[in-house]
Amino acid sequence: MTIIGLPALVGSYDNLIWILYHQDKAWVIDPGESSQVIDFLQQHSLNLHGILITHDHQDHTHGVSELLKHCPESNIYGPKNSPLSAYYPQYKALQEKDSITLYPGYTLNVLDTPGHTPNHISFLIMKFCFVGILYLAQAQENF
Ligand SMILES: [Zn+2]
Repeated sequence: MTIIGLPALVGSYDNLIWILYHQDKAWVIDPGESSQVIDFLQQHSLNLHGILITHDHQDHTHGVSELLKHCPESNIYGPKNSPLSAYYPQYKALQEKDSITLYPGYTLNVLDTPGHTPNHISFLIMKFCFVGILYLAQAQENF
């Protein structure tokens, strides 16, 4: 499995959209935009199997509708009580202890991580944890 972060909303939110892929099957995490994801999928001859959402903010979900237009067979997973579930009949709500087999031998485990939003979830895959939002404090020389 390969993991790549595509820059998104550059100059405003400066997010990364994560793409996980193996052979011709891809998953995308928190698509705040869609064009760079669609370009990447086409350039690498990938089929989008699933969209994974950590929380409901637009900078993590704005690309969902366009992605589903290009990849109508894609699944979509995200937190429970999400407004997205009203728009997408294929939406599946996830919570702590749920898991998804992305590829044989690669399982995604769901963690409830409320705080940024009440229903925020994170995804643990091998040694990688996709938390959806991360603040990094500047290093300080004097403590
Ligand atoms: Zn947010």
